[in-house]
Amino acid sequence: MKILEVNDLNLGFRTEQGFRQALFDVSFSLTKGKTLALVGESGCGKTISAMSILRLLPKTAQIKSGEIIYNSENLINLSEKEMQKIRGAKIALIPQDPMTSLNPLYTIGNQLLEVIKIHQNLQGTEAEKKAVEALEMVQIPCAKERLKAYPHEFSGGMKQRAIIAMALACQAEVLIADELTTALDVTIQAQIMNLLSDIKSQLGTSILLITHDLALVGENADEIAVMYAGRIVEKAPSKDFFENPNHPYSKALLNSMPAKRGETLDTIQGQPPTIHQDISGCRFHPRCKYCFTPCTKSVPESFIISENHTSACFLNNK
Ligand code: SF4
Repeated sequence: MKILEVNDLNLGFRTEQGFRQALFDVSFSLTKGKTLALVGESGCGKTISAMSILRLLPKTAQIKSGEIIYNSENLINLSEKEMQKIRGAKIALIPQDPMTSLNPLYTIGNQLLEVIKIHQNLQGTEAEKKAVEALEMVQIPCAKERLKAYPHEFSGGMKQRAIIAMALACQAEVLIADELTTALDVTIQAQIMNLLSDIKSQLGTSILLITHDLALVGENADEIAVMYAGRIVEKAPSKDFFENPNHPYSKALLNSMPAKRGETLDTIQGQPPTIHQDISGCRFHPRCKYCFTPCTKSVPESFIISENHTSACFLNNK
Protein backbone atom coordinates (compact mmCIF):
# COMPACT_ATOMS: atom_id res chain seq x y z
CA MET A 1 0.00 0.00 0.00
CA LYS A 2 1.35 3.41 -1.00
CA ILE A 3 1.33 5.84 1.89
CA LEU A 4 2.88 8.81 0.10
CA GLU A 5 3.15 9.60 -3.59
CA VAL A 6 5.02 12.41 -5.30
CA ASN A 7 3.82 12.72 -8.89
CA ASP A 8 5.45 14.79 -11.63
CA LEU A 9 6.67 17.49 -9.26
CA ASN A 10 8.12 20.54 -10.99
CA LEU A 11 9.61 23.16 -8.70
CA GLY A 12 11.94 26.12 -9.09
CA PHE A 13 13.24 29.28 -7.49
CA ARG A 14 12.71 32.93 -8.26
CA THR A 15 16.21 34.33 -8.68
CA GLU A 16 17.71 37.61 -9.91
CA GLN A 17 18.20 35.82 -13.24
CA GLY A 18 14.51 34.87 -13.35
CA PHE A 19 12.77 31.59 -12.54
CA ARG A 20 15.21 28.65 -12.40
CA GLN A 21 13.86 25.13 -12.34
CA ALA A 22 15.32 22.78 -9.72
CA LEU A 23 13.04 19.71 -9.87
CA PHE A 24 11.91 18.18 -13.14
CA ASP A 25 8.92 15.78 -13.18
CA VAL A 26 10.02 14.16 -9.93
CA SER A 27 7.94 11.07 -9.10
CA PHE A 28 8.43 8.52 -6.35
CA SER A 29 6.28 6.73 -3.83
CA LEU A 30 6.67 5.35 -0.35
CA THR A 31 5.15 1.98 0.57
CA LYS A 32 3.70 1.48 4.06
CA GLY A 33 6.28 -0.07 6.39
CA LYS A 34 9.13 0.24 3.89
CA THR A 35 12.20 2.43 3.48
CA LEU A 36 12.76 4.35 0.29
CA ALA A 37 16.22 5.88 -0.10
CA LEU A 38 16.52 8.99 -2.21
CA VAL A 39 20.15 8.99 -3.28
CA GLY A 40 22.46 11.38 -5.11
CA GLU A 41 25.27 13.88 -4.76
CA SER A 42 24.81 17.12 -2.78
CA GLY A 43 22.71 19.63 -4.63
CA CYS A 44 20.87 17.08 -6.77
CA GLY A 45 17.44 17.97 -5.33
CA LYS A 46 16.97 15.32 -2.63
CA THR A 47 16.44 17.67 0.30
CA ILE A 48 14.24 20.09 -1.63
CA SER A 49 12.07 17.13 -2.70
CA ALA A 50 11.69 16.11 0.95
CA MET A 51 11.01 19.66 2.07
CA SER A 52 8.30 19.93 -0.61
CA ILE A 53 6.49 17.05 1.09
CA LEU A 54 6.53 18.94 4.39
CA ARG A 55 5.95 22.26 2.61
CA LEU A 56 9.00 23.66 4.39
CA LEU A 57 10.30 25.51 1.36
CA PRO A 58 12.25 28.75 1.13
CA LYS A 59 10.13 31.80 0.25
CA THR A 60 11.68 31.98 -3.21
CA ALA A 61 10.63 28.42 -4.08
CA GLN A 62 7.61 27.84 -6.27
CA ILE A 63 5.88 24.57 -7.08
CA LYS A 64 4.91 24.84 -10.75
CA SER A 65 3.00 21.59 -11.09
CA GLY A 66 2.63 18.09 -9.73
CA GLU A 67 1.00 16.55 -6.70
CA ILE A 68 2.03 15.12 -3.33
CA ILE A 69 -0.60 12.64 -2.21
CA TYR A 70 -0.85 11.60 1.44
CA ASN A 71 -4.02 9.91 2.72
CA SER A 72 -5.78 10.72 -0.57
CA GLU A 73 -5.09 14.44 -0.11
CA ASN A 74 -2.84 16.59 -2.27
CA LEU A 75 -0.60 18.30 0.29
CA ILE A 76 0.18 21.06 -2.20
CA ASN A 77 -3.41 22.29 -1.94
CA LEU A 78 -3.61 22.34 1.87
CA SER A 79 -3.57 25.57 3.87
CA GLU A 80 -0.69 26.23 6.27
CA LYS A 81 -3.04 25.48 9.18
CA GLU A 82 -3.96 22.12 7.69
CA MET A 83 -0.29 21.37 7.01
CA GLN A 84 0.56 22.05 10.66
CA LYS A 85 -1.66 19.11 11.66
CA ILE A 86 0.31 16.81 9.34
CA ARG A 87 3.83 18.17 9.77
CA GLY A 88 5.51 16.60 12.78
CA ALA A 89 2.37 14.66 13.67
CA LYS A 90 1.83 12.41 10.66
CA ILE A 91 4.94 13.12 8.61
CA ALA A 92 7.94 13.95 10.78
CA LEU A 93 11.37 15.22 9.83
CA ILE A 94 14.50 13.93 11.53
CA PRO A 95 16.91 16.68 10.52
CA GLN A 96 20.64 16.39 9.91
CA ASP A 97 21.31 18.76 12.80
CA PRO A 98 19.10 17.75 15.75
CA MET A 99 19.55 21.14 17.40
CA THR A 100 17.34 22.65 14.68
CA SER A 101 14.45 20.66 16.21
CA LEU A 102 15.32 20.74 19.91
CA ASN A 103 14.91 23.88 21.98
CA PRO A 104 18.08 24.32 24.10
CA LEU A 105 16.11 26.19 26.78
CA TYR A 106 13.72 23.35 27.66
CA THR A 107 14.39 19.87 29.01
CA ILE A 108 13.91 16.84 26.78
CA GLY A 109 10.97 15.93 29.04
CA ASN A 110 9.28 19.34 28.61
CA GLN A 111 9.58 19.04 24.84
CA LEU A 112 8.40 15.45 24.72
CA LEU A 113 5.46 16.12 27.08
CA GLU A 114 4.41 19.07 24.95
CA VAL A 115 3.98 16.92 21.82
CA ILE A 116 2.26 14.15 23.81
CA LYS A 117 -0.23 16.65 25.28
CA ILE A 118 -1.00 18.06 21.83
CA HIS A 119 -1.06 14.88 19.77
CA GLN A 120 -2.26 12.27 22.24
CA ASN A 121 -4.36 14.56 24.43
CA LEU A 122 -2.82 13.15 27.63
CA GLN A 123 -1.92 15.03 30.81
CA GLY A 124 -0.03 14.47 34.09
CA THR A 125 1.29 11.03 34.98
CA GLU A 126 -0.27 9.42 31.89
CA ALA A 127 1.64 11.84 29.63
CA GLU A 128 4.85 11.26 31.61
CA LYS A 129 4.43 7.49 31.26
CA LYS A 130 4.14 7.91 27.49
CA ALA A 131 7.22 10.14 27.44
CA VAL A 132 9.25 7.51 29.29
CA GLU A 133 7.95 4.81 26.89
CA ALA A 134 8.96 6.94 23.90
CA LEU A 135 12.52 7.35 25.22
CA GLU A 136 12.70 3.64 26.02
CA MET A 137 11.49 2.84 22.51
CA VAL A 138 14.53 4.68 21.12
CA GLN A 139 16.75 2.85 23.61
CA ILE A 140 17.74 5.80 25.79
CA PRO A 141 18.89 4.31 29.12
CA CYS A 142 17.47 5.55 32.45
CA ALA A 143 14.62 7.13 30.49
CA LYS A 144 12.78 8.58 33.50
CA GLU A 145 15.84 10.49 34.76
CA ARG A 146 16.77 11.54 31.22
CA LEU A 147 13.50 13.47 30.91
CA LYS A 148 15.08 16.10 33.19
CA ALA A 149 18.12 16.57 30.94
CA TYR A 150 18.64 19.54 28.62
CA PRO A 151 19.59 18.92 24.98
CA HIS A 152 23.22 20.00 25.58
CA GLU A 153 23.52 17.14 28.10
CA PHE A 154 22.78 14.63 25.31
CA SER A 155 25.38 13.37 22.80
CA GLY A 156 24.72 13.79 19.05
CA GLY A 157 23.33 10.26 18.77
CA MET A 158 21.09 10.72 21.84
CA LYS A 159 19.71 13.98 20.43
CA GLN A 160 18.80 12.14 17.21
CA ARG A 161 17.10 9.46 19.32
CA ALA A 162 15.18 12.12 21.28
CA ILE A 163 13.87 13.58 18.00
CA ILE A 164 12.86 10.14 16.79
CA ALA A 165 11.10 9.65 20.18
CA MET A 166 9.13 12.86 19.59
CA ALA A 167 8.06 11.68 16.15
CA LEU A 168 6.97 8.35 17.65
CA ALA A 169 5.10 10.13 20.46
CA CYS A 170 3.13 11.90 17.72
CA GLN A 171 2.45 8.49 16.16
CA ALA A 172 3.97 9.72 12.88
CA GLU A 173 3.32 7.36 9.96
CA VAL A 174 6.17 8.69 7.84
CA LEU A 175 9.67 9.61 9.02
CA ILE A 176 11.84 11.68 6.72
CA ALA A 177 15.48 11.22 7.69
CA ASP A 178 17.64 13.87 6.02
CA GLU A 179 21.30 12.81 5.93
CA LEU A 180 20.77 12.11 9.61
CA THR A 181 23.89 10.12 10.16
CA THR A 182 26.31 12.54 8.48
CA ALA A 183 27.30 14.24 11.72
CA LEU A 184 27.61 10.98 13.69
CA ASP A 185 30.48 8.54 13.93
CA VAL A 186 30.16 5.19 12.19
CA THR A 187 29.15 3.16 15.27
CA ILE A 188 26.41 5.60 16.24
CA GLN A 189 25.28 5.75 12.59
CA ALA A 190 24.78 1.99 12.64
CA GLN A 191 22.87 2.16 15.94
CA ILE A 192 20.51 4.86 14.64
CA MET A 193 19.91 2.95 11.39
CA ASN A 194 19.18 -0.23 13.39
CA LEU A 195 16.80 1.73 15.56
CA LEU A 196 14.91 3.03 12.49
CA SER A 197 14.79 -0.50 11.14
CA ASP A 198 13.30 -1.79 14.45
CA ILE A 199 10.73 1.01 14.47
CA LYS A 200 9.78 0.17 10.89
CA SER A 201 9.19 -3.48 11.68
CA GLN A 202 7.50 -2.94 15.07
CA LEU A 203 5.25 0.00 14.20
CA GLY A 204 4.95 -0.25 10.41
CA THR A 205 6.39 3.27 10.05
CA SER A 206 7.46 4.26 6.55
CA ILE A 207 10.85 5.91 6.13
CA LEU A 208 12.15 8.25 3.47
CA LEU A 209 15.92 8.17 3.78
CA ILE A 210 17.70 11.09 2.14
CA THR A 211 21.35 10.26 1.67
CA HIS A 212 24.43 10.56 -0.50
CA ASP A 213 25.81 7.41 1.13
CA LEU A 214 25.13 4.27 -0.91
CA ALA A 215 26.82 2.10 1.71
CA LEU A 216 24.13 3.14 4.20
CA VAL A 217 21.41 2.42 1.66
CA GLY A 218 22.53 -1.12 0.93
CA GLU A 219 21.59 -2.48 4.32
CA ASN A 220 18.71 -0.24 5.18
CA ALA A 221 16.54 0.56 2.17
CA ASP A 222 13.87 -1.57 0.50
CA GLU A 223 13.71 0.64 -2.56
CA ILE A 224 16.06 3.16 -4.12
CA ALA A 225 15.46 6.25 -6.22
CA VAL A 226 18.57 7.88 -7.67
CA MET A 227 18.42 11.61 -8.34
CA TYR A 228 20.64 13.63 -10.60
CA ALA A 229 20.35 17.38 -11.22
CA GLY A 230 16.71 17.54 -10.21
CA ARG A 231 15.53 14.40 -12.00
CA ILE A 232 14.96 10.84 -10.85
CA VAL A 233 17.18 8.80 -13.17
CA GLU A 234 16.68 5.29 -11.79
CA LYS A 235 14.26 3.53 -9.43
CA ALA A 236 14.56 -0.06 -8.29
CA PRO A 237 14.11 -2.46 -5.39
CA SER A 238 17.32 -2.29 -3.37
CA LYS A 239 18.55 -5.82 -4.16
CA ASP A 240 17.93 -5.38 -7.88
CA PHE A 241 19.67 -2.01 -7.84
CA PHE A 242 22.88 -3.36 -6.33
CA GLU A 243 22.91 -6.50 -8.47
CA ASN A 244 21.84 -4.91 -11.72
CA PRO A 245 22.27 -1.12 -11.78
CA ASN A 246 21.33 0.34 -15.14
CA HIS A 247 21.82 4.09 -15.34
CA PRO A 248 25.41 5.28 -15.99
CA TYR A 249 25.09 7.74 -13.08
CA SER A 250 24.00 4.95 -10.70
CA LYS A 251 26.91 2.81 -11.89
CA ALA A 252 29.32 5.72 -11.39
CA LEU A 253 27.99 6.28 -7.86
CA LEU A 254 28.39 2.59 -7.06
CA ASN A 255 31.92 2.56 -8.48
CA SER A 256 32.86 5.50 -6.29
CA MET A 257 31.70 3.74 -3.09
CA PRO A 258 34.47 2.96 -0.61
CA ALA A 259 35.92 -0.28 -1.93
CA LYS A 260 37.76 -3.10 -0.27
CA ARG A 261 41.15 -2.28 1.19
CA GLY A 262 43.72 -1.83 -1.55
CA GLU A 263 41.17 -1.24 -4.34
CA THR A 264 41.21 2.14 -6.02
CA LEU A 265 38.06 4.25 -6.14
CA ASP A 266 36.57 5.67 -9.31
CA THR A 267 35.52 9.27 -9.22
CA ILE A 268 32.80 10.87 -11.32
CA GLN A 269 34.43 13.49 -13.52
CA GLY A 270 33.06 17.04 -13.29
CA GLN A 271 30.42 18.53 -11.05
CA PRO A 272 26.62 18.34 -11.03
CA PRO A 273 25.13 21.45 -12.66
CA THR A 274 23.73 24.32 -10.60
CA ILE A 275 20.19 25.54 -11.24
CA HIS A 276 21.70 28.40 -13.25
CA GLN A 277 23.13 26.08 -15.91
CA ASP A 278 20.88 25.14 -18.80
CA ILE A 279 21.50 21.60 -20.01
CA SER A 280 19.76 20.21 -23.05
CA GLY A 281 18.81 16.55 -23.35
CA CYS A 282 19.94 14.15 -20.63
CA ARG A 283 21.10 16.23 -17.68
CA PHE A 284 23.95 13.80 -17.03
CA HIS A 285 25.33 14.00 -20.58
CA PRO A 286 28.26 16.41 -19.89
CA ARG A 287 29.65 13.83 -17.40
CA CYS A 288 28.59 10.61 -19.07
CA LYS A 289 31.23 8.46 -20.79
CA TYR A 290 28.51 6.71 -22.84
CA CYS A 291 26.98 9.94 -24.22
CA PHE A 292 25.88 9.59 -27.86
CA THR A 293 23.94 11.77 -30.29
CA PRO A 294 20.38 11.59 -28.87
CA CYS A 295 21.61 12.33 -25.34
CA THR A 296 22.30 16.00 -26.06
CA LYS A 297 19.06 16.54 -27.96
CA SER A 298 16.19 15.13 -25.94
CA VAL A 299 15.36 14.07 -22.42
CA PRO A 300 15.35 10.28 -22.03
CA GLU A 301 12.07 8.76 -20.87
CA SER A 302 12.02 6.08 -18.16
CA PHE A 303 12.59 2.64 -19.64
CA ILE A 304 11.31 -0.44 -17.83
CA ILE A 305 14.26 -2.67 -16.93
CA SER A 306 12.38 -5.25 -14.86
CA GLU A 307 9.50 -5.30 -12.38
CA ASN A 308 9.50 -1.99 -10.45
CA HIS A 309 12.88 -1.09 -11.98
CA THR A 310 13.09 1.87 -14.37
CA SER A 311 15.98 3.86 -15.78
CA ALA A 312 15.98 7.09 -17.80
CA CYS A 313 18.82 6.38 -20.23
CA PHE A 314 18.84 6.14 -24.04
CA LEU A 315 21.21 3.17 -23.91
CA ASN A 316 18.11 1.09 -23.17
CA ASN A 317 16.70 2.03 -26.55
CA LYS A 318 19.74 1.28 -28.71
FE1 SF4 B 1 24.59 8.84 -20.65
FE2 SF4 B 1 23.02 9.26 -22.73
FE3 SF4 B 1 22.28 7.58 -20.85
FE4 SF4 B 1 22.31 10.18 -20.37
S1 SF4 B 1 20.98 9.11 -21.81
S2 SF4 B 1 23.06 8.60 -19.04
S3 SF4 B 1 24.10 10.80 -21.52
S4 SF4 B 1 24.05 7.37 -22.22
